[in-house]
Parts: sequence; structure tokens; C-alpha cells
Amino acid sequence: MRSLRTREPMARAELPRLSVLRLGHRRERDKRITSHLGLTARAFGADEVVLAGEEDHSALETWNSVTEHFGGEFECRYEPKPMAWLRRASKGDEATIVHLTMYGQPWREALPEIPIDKPAIVVVGGTKVPSETFRLSDHNVSIGNQPHSEVSALAVFLDAWVGPIDEASRFDGGLIEIVPSIRGKIVINHEEE
Ligand code: SAM
Repeated sequence: MRSLRTREPMARAELPRLSVLRLGHRRERDKRITSHLGLTARAFGADEVVLAGEEDHSALETWNSVTEHFGGEFECRYEPKPMAWLRRASKGDEATIVHLTMYGQPWREALPEIPIDKPAIVVVGGTKVPSETFRLSDHNVSIGNQPHSEVSALAVFLDAWVGPIDEASRFDGGLIEIVPSIRGKIVINHEEE
């Protein structure tokens, strides 16, 4: 079987823009999971997370704070009209739209069909996902056909699709740098240098 990692480690500037759209955020119910979704998007190679549903400045503040501390140029914003944004992206063929849903095509089958040389929008739901999302999406992709979480679905998909990330270049400029260690914690605090 062809390797699932369809990309070699590439510097950020070489990769087409990758956005994650969080549909249907509920400020109280989804507070933590939406926050973790954005952090997962950032850690696994997305350039931005777009929040839709209920506006929630605390999620945006969390993502911006992590980017300030751990580096990189990850962006986040609130989108009041996500479906209009998706329609424009679809109509103008500006980006490949990948919708993660338990009803979709198995990810291992879908991956090789998804172009890696153009911008992409990866869509995950919260409350009931509008059926139009399925029609607008170029790929409706499942991570197994059992219900689980948007965070796990996004992590598995991005890790397989984006492949290894050159963290030194991707998360450059942070105040804090974690050095991988087989035991204990090695943390470099550039603020103290
Ligand atoms: N309550 C919402 C509904 O019924 O439409 C969905 C809730 S589900 C936990 C939230 C999101 O997680 C889904 O919209 C989908 O993006 C993602 N998700 C959950 N299970 C998935 C799976 N097996 N494969 C891909 N994505 C999945």
C-alpha cells in the first residue's frame, strides 16, 4: 500500500495554506474541546483555525497565547458566515474542502485522492452539521465509522495527510522550546536568555 504520509517534511513556506474550520461551536458546551481542536490544528500543521458558531474570544485568546509562547505564525479568527465562506472557496476552486465525518469515505482510501499542492480547508462539526457541508466538500472523510471526537479525527487525519513537521522551522520564534526527551522535561526558556 502506498505510504499514507503523502508529504515529506517541508518548510512552512513551501506548503499550501491549510485551514481548519470548526463549525457549530457552542460557547459553554464545547469550550474545552474547541480549544483543544485549535491546538491540535496548530500542532499538526494547519496555518489557521477558523471558529464558527457562537463567537468565543476565550478560544481565540488561548490559541494566540500558545502561538506567542511556543512560536510560529499560526492564525485564528471568528467567521460569522462559514457556509458562505465554504461556498466561495468551492465556487472559486480556491481550496480543497475536506469534511471529517463518521459517514464519510475511509481515510486510508481517501488520502491519496486529496491533492497536496493546493490550499485546503478541513471542516469539523460541533452541533448538527448542515447537510450542505457534505455537498460542498470535495471529500467527506471518515476516521472509522464510529462516533468519536473532532479532536481525534483531526489529529489522525492531519498527521497522515501533512506528514512529519519540521518543528524548528514551523514553530520558530517562541518564548518556550521543548526539547524531546526520553525521560523528564527539557524546556528552553528563550525569554530568560
Ligand atoms: N453532534 C454532531 C452531529 O450529530 O452532526 C456531531 C458531533 S461529532 C462528535 C463532532 C464532529 O466530530 C463531527 O462533525 C466530525 O467532524 C467529527 N467526527 C466524529 N466522529 C468522526 C469519525 N468517525 N470520523 C471523522 N470525523 C468524526
